[in-house]
Amino acid sequence: MVKQNEPAGIDRTELFGAREGTNGIIRCDACPVLCRIRPGRAGACARYANQDGRLVRTDPLVMSERLADDGSPMVPFLEQETEWDGNPITGADVFVTGIGAGTTYPDYKPAPFIVSSNYEGVDTVTVVSEGIFSYCGVKVKIDTDRHLGAETAAVRAKGEHVGHVTTAEYGSQMLSLGGVRHLTGNSKKEGSVTCDTLMALCNKEPVELEIEDGVTLTVTAGQPPIVDGAKEQRMRVGCGSAAIGIFAQQWFGHADEVIVVDDHITGVLSEHQAGKVLNMEPSGVRVRGRKSTAGRYFQVAEPGQGWGGTDITDPLSIIETIDPALAWPGMRLLMTSTTGEDSIFCKLDESLRPVETDMPAPLIEVVERIKENCEPSLATVLFMAGAGGSLRAGVTENPVRLTCSVRDRMTRVTLGGAPAFIWPGGGITVMVDVSRMPNQSFGYVPTPAIVAPIEFTLPRSTYAELGGHMDAITPLHLIVEEFTRAARHITARSDNPWPLQRQDKG
Ligand code: SF4
Repeated sequence: MVKQNEPAGIDRTELFGAREGTNGIIRCDACPVLCRIRPGRAGACARYANQDGRLVRTDPLVMSERLADDGSPMVPFLEQETEWDGNPITGADVFVTGIGAGTTYPDYKPAPFIVSSNYEGVDTVTVVSEGIFSYCGVKVKIDTDRHLGAETAAVRAKGEHVGHVTTAEYGSQMLSLGGVRHLTGNSKKEGSVTCDTLMALCNKEPVELEIEDGVTLTVTAGQPPIVDGAKEQRMRVGCGSAAIGIFAQQWFGHADEVIVVDDHITGVLSEHQAGKVLNMEPSGVRVRGRKSTAGRYFQVAEPGQGWGGTDITDPLSIIETIDPALAWPGMRLLMTSTTGEDSIFCKLDESLRPVETDMPAPLIEVVERIKENCEPSLATVLFMAGAGGSLRAGVTENPVRLTCSVRDRMTRVTLGGAPAFIWPGGGITVMVDVSRMPNQSFGYVPTPAIVAPIEFTLPRSTYAELGGHMDAITPLHLIVEEFTRAARHITARSDNPWPLQRQDKG
């Protein structure tokens, strides 16, 4: 049904609506699905509806506004104002985002809004649209050293294969989800579940994922991940070797050996370069696994949910031998994980067996410092999409010039006003942190594909040189006058560069 909540979406009849017959049905032309929408109903994507014979975009257009240093709006024009007071609106105050702007299909039509404004003395144009992306996905970074699943293991949502585990990063596990193959290359159900999953993740909603032969996960962008039902607290301070390097001096004199257990690189203090520099005596403790370099061991255990992302719950199990020629009764041994969440202190008995005992206060302090140095664990979601296709035709009649202009940083690309990273090389492959975008920025169409806001900002003179749709340009103040009451007004995030700012300034 048509949404009743105000502010209402904007009338798009002229752009995409075609009447069919006499019973009030409108055909929506905004995507290839071409829904026939009865009066009072919405189309398949719920983004367009037939409201009293008009085709309306059901979500309001989002205008992003900048606050002055004192926190007041740069130009007060919000919807509370009953009359437009004629104040000049400039690009320094208001940015029209692609959220709620609508799409153009087929793409040769000019984008829904091509907005001119003046910013810092430069005549500027912003081409505003909602792009339909069949080539898109998300990269999910999960701050944990816990083993989530093997690299390349399938990631499933609602039983459907939506992506895979990819290369781990420093202190984080990574997932690659979506992409054109999962959206289009297999069953219809896999495509639609992939699309739903991507949309929910990008809209910062919680999503349940299951990793083949691994864990179950709840991922919400910008929130701590939940692994097998437990909320992750902290990411590791570093790998085992890095932890040795950071804290060696603080352990020195309080322990004769320190082992930092890590799934990737386990560190052994007395043997490590840090211990050598401190003139520590060899302890004779030899851990399992493959020695990489002095005091750095790989594969001391299998990956898992135990200490330091390994499968061990008994840390002493990674000690292979203790050399009686080097060790001595009473030798003090500290073992800790890379987060400090797990730690034990032992002394060697007369038979040189480690016996757990109370940890001395100076070592408790350093273990607490490891915890203190662990940043909060978060799940972060980066949306990645190809904007180098037909979407460009809504910007210019000569698309390759837009691609080159983006690459040359003459054209700034933003998504919902948030800065996008542009991958080097061919095409316009964008990547954006969804946490920096306004809430509910993303939609979908059942082709299936993700709908995301996208804005291209460039000097007006450059836009003309690119073969831009100059006749379709509308001054910002006219768009504000016409749409301000129907728009959703948001305050621009202060940590995002203002989208009209030149890129070499931020
Ligand atoms: S799916 Fe949405 S955008 Fe596509 S035709 Fe239907 S209502 Fe229009």
